[in-house]
Amino acid sequence: MIEKRITVLGSTGSVGTSTLDLMDQAEAAGTGRFQVVALTGGANIARLAEQARRWRPAVAVTADGTRLNELTEALAGTGIATVAGEAAITEAATRPTDLVMAAIVGAAGLKSAWAAAATGATLALANKESLVCCGSSLIGRVTAAGGRLIPVDSEHSAIFQVFPAAAPEQVARLVLTASGGPFRQTSREAMAVMTPEQAVAHPNWSMGAKISVDSATMANKGLEMIEAAYLFGMPAGKIDVVVHPESIIHSLVEFVDGSTLAQMGPPDMKTPIACALAWPDRMAWPAPRLDLAALGRLTFEAPDPVRFPALRLAREALEAGKGAPTVFNAANEVGALAFLDRRLGFLNIAAVVAETLDRMTATGAVSHAGDGCEGALALDAEARRVASGIVQTLALAA
Ligand code: NAD
Ligand code: MG
Repeated sequence: MIEKRITVLGSTGSVGTSTLDLMDQAEAAGTGRFQVVALTGGANIARLAEQARRWRPAVAVTADGTRLNELTEALAGTGIATVAGEAAITEAATRPTDLVMAAIVGAAGLKSAWAAAATGATLALANKESLVCCGSSLIGRVTAAGGRLIPVDSEHSAIFQVFPAAAPEQVARLVLTASGGPFRQTSREAMAVMTPEQAVAHPNWSMGAKISVDSATMANKGLEMIEAAYLFGMPAGKIDVVVHPESIIHSLVEFVDGSTLAQMGPPDMKTPIACALAWPDRMAWPAPRLDLAALGRLTFEAPDPVRFPALRLAREALEAGKGAPTVFNAANEVGALAFLDRRLGFLNIAAVVAETLDRMTATGAVSHAGDGCEGALALDAEARRVASGIVQTLALAA
C-alpha cells in the first residue's frame, strides 16, 4: 500500500488530471491511500473545485486572480482555503508534503518547482521546462534539501528505470524515442499550412495544447534531449533520437559492452506517473497491458532534420550551454502559443526559435545568464521580448 501526502501543481491539466485519476483508481483497488495537501490550477475553476471537493486539500489555488470569487463560492462550506496568484502557488508548493507533482505547463512552472525543490519533498517533475531552464541547479537544490527528483516525462521515466545511477560510466548512449507526432509523414509544403487543430491531434498521446504543438514540431524531443542531459549527466553527443511511431518503447540505455536496455508499455502517462508516485516501490492500478502479439511489429526510423529543424536547434542550444536552453525554451513557447493563436505559420515556430537564438547569441545575452531560477526567469523574459518581436515581423510579412 502506497501512503503519501501529495501536492499537485497544475492539477487541472492533462498530467494533473491523470495523476488524480490514478490516485482514485489506486484507492479503489486498495493499493494506495493519499492525503492531498494542495491543488493548483488555472482558469478551469469548475474542474479545480470538483477536484478539491473530492480530495479535500488544505488549500486550492487558482493562478487567475479574477476567478478567485468563483472558486471561493464553489468551495463554500468545505473548509478548504482558497487563494489566487503566482505567489500563492509558490507558497502552496512549499507546504509540508511527501511528494510534489509539478505539472504546470511552460516556464510558468519554474518558480513553484524551484520552491518545491528546497523543501526536501520528492519532486515528481512533469514540467520539463523548469529543468531545461534551471538545469543542474534545480537537481542540486533537490539533493541539497535531502529530496529526490523523479522524472514524469515518459522517456525520462523509462531511462530512470534502467539507468545504472551508481555507475553512470557504464553508459555509452541514451536513445530517446519519439512518436514523430501528427506530421511524421507530412511534406514540408503541407506542414506550412497546417492548422492548430491538425497539430494538436496527436496519434498516440492525449496531452495539453502546448506540448502537442511541441510534439508536432519535435521541439518536445529537443526539450527532452536537454532534460535528459541534465537528469543523467550525459553530453549532447551521447544522446540520440529515434522515431518509433507506436510509442511502445519509451526510451533506451545503451551500455559500453553493447547491451541495450529499454523500458516498454502502452502509451499512457499514468504508468510513468504511477512510477513517480510509488518509487522505489511499485503501485498496482488497472493499467492497460502490453500485448506484443497483437501489436505484431514495432518500427523505427531516423528523424528528418529538414522537416524538424527544432531537433538540431535544441542540440545546438545544449552544446552552447549557459543560457541557450532557456532561450530555446522561451522562444519555442512564444512561437507555439502564437501558432495556437493563429498569428504564426507552423514552420515559422522553428524560425522564431532560430532567429531568437541568433540574435541573443550575437548580443552576448545568452552567455551572460545568471544562475538558478532568478537568472533563468530574467533571461526567459528577455528572450520572450525578442521572440515576440520576431513573431510580429513574421506575421506582418505573411
Ligand atoms: P496542460 O495545458 O494540460 O495543463 C497545464 C496546467 O498548468 C493546468 O492545470 C493549468 O491550469 C496550469 N497553468 C497553465 N498556465 C499556468 C500559469 N501561468 N500559472 C499557473 N498554472 C498554470 O498541460 P499538460 O499537458 O498537463 O503538461 C504539463 C507539463 O507536463 C508540461 O510541462 C508538459 O511538457 C509536461 N508533460 C506533459 C505530458 C502529457 O502527456 N500531457 C507528457 C510529458 C510531459
Ligand atoms: Mg515525453
